[in-house]
Amino acid sequence: MGGDPLLSGFENLDDYGFETRAIRAGQPHDPRTGGVVTPIALSTTFAQDAVGQPKFGYEYARTGNPTRHAYEECLASLEGAQSGFAFASGLAAEDALLRLLGPGERILLGDDAYGGTFRLISQIHGAAGVHHTAIDLTEPETIRTAWTPETRMVWLETPTNPLLTVLDIERIVAITHDLGGTVVVDNTFATPYLQQPISLGANAVVHSATKYLGGHSDVVGGFVATSDDRIAEHLGFVQNAVGAVPGPFDCYLVLRGLKTLAVRMDRHCANTAAVVEALVNHPRVDRVLYPGLEDHPGHEVAVRQMRNFGGMVSFQLTGGREAAEKVAVSTEVFTLAESLGAVESLIEHPGVMTHASVAGSALEVPDDLIRISVGIESIEDLLADLDRALATA
Ligand code: PLP
Repeated sequence: MGGDPLLSGFENLDDYGFETRAIRAGQPHDPRTGGVVTPIALSTTFAQDAVGQPKFGYEYARTGNPTRHAYEECLASLEGAQSGFAFASGLAAEDALLRLLGPGERILLGDDAYGGTFRLISQIHGAAGVHHTAIDLTEPETIRTAWTPETRMVWLETPTNPLLTVLDIERIVAITHDLGGTVVVDNTFATPYLQQPISLGANAVVHSATKYLGGHSDVVGGFVATSDDRIAEHLGFVQNAVGAVPGPFDCYLVLRGLKTLAVRMDRHCANTAAVVEALVNHPRVDRVLYPGLEDHPGHEVAVRQMRNFGGMVSFQLTGGREAAEKVAVSTEVFTLAESLGAVESLIEHPGVMTHASVAGSALEVPDDLIRISVGIESIEDLLADLDRALATA
């Protein structure tokens, strides 16, 4: 992990807390100026002392870039991983991991997942000969039933997008490792502040950095963290050989986002708890999906493996799809838009928007579902906005 004083500025980075590492890991003061902010290094090529001997280890910016390395070092440290690899988007990061699978091999994935992940697995890697089976991972024993000799990997999100299902990472890891497989956890909804899958045994953690890590709806990015040498070697190779890397400015934006991740997540969680309470008590709301609710089927697992329950909530209305569409277009503080995890509150209809690509599959979502990403605005404004919108349902 990032103990290199040249990178961190600290002798033993691991001895420092999450918030300190978010601000300092991988980010030494500028040795020439003392600047405390990691520069955006724009150079695409780097001087060499002799043929094949780069001065500081950098040759060409697809292979390695100082701003990207600072970001990779920082986020790997926050995930408790030995190494981290930044990609141009969450899907590019997922694609790099899925390239571990070859033709004829099989991946098991949970039956609730981001629609784009399912599209990537089924249509892109499916066309390259990779098979997939979507299973109910809330019953981890189904992994044994679904396992075939060519199965290599189990892929899960927790909490899931958009149904907020919680999966037991430790149990899934124990069963999958027993069968000789690899576990990948998409940690986008929880972030490393709330949940650290590597410490629960996962082989790799993947992120859409576009969401909470960037945190301000102004950068698309992806990330993989791992402490598995085989996976790290593969990712370094794919990062360079395929080249789906983020530019230096994008790396800078995510690195800046990481510095406030902890305080933003605390506020997201606090605002969400208040929103959930209002939704649960609202007569037009039929069902609220949120892991913090004691009657949520994954509540106990969430308490065990998460620090808090996050900023995402889905709900269904007594008035069905028509009511859901009315509410989704009636808010003012919550913006009707795709994406999630940033400072501003968003509302969407997953069936038509983010999850349209899973229509007709095992991952299809209810057509009366609304998903909200609760931002960090004044809670009074968020509650009043939802209350006004729900009156239209
Ligand atoms: N994983 C999850 C849980 C997501 O919600 C998303 C995007 O919404 C992705 C992965 C894909 O990330 P990106 O949009 O950055 O490619």
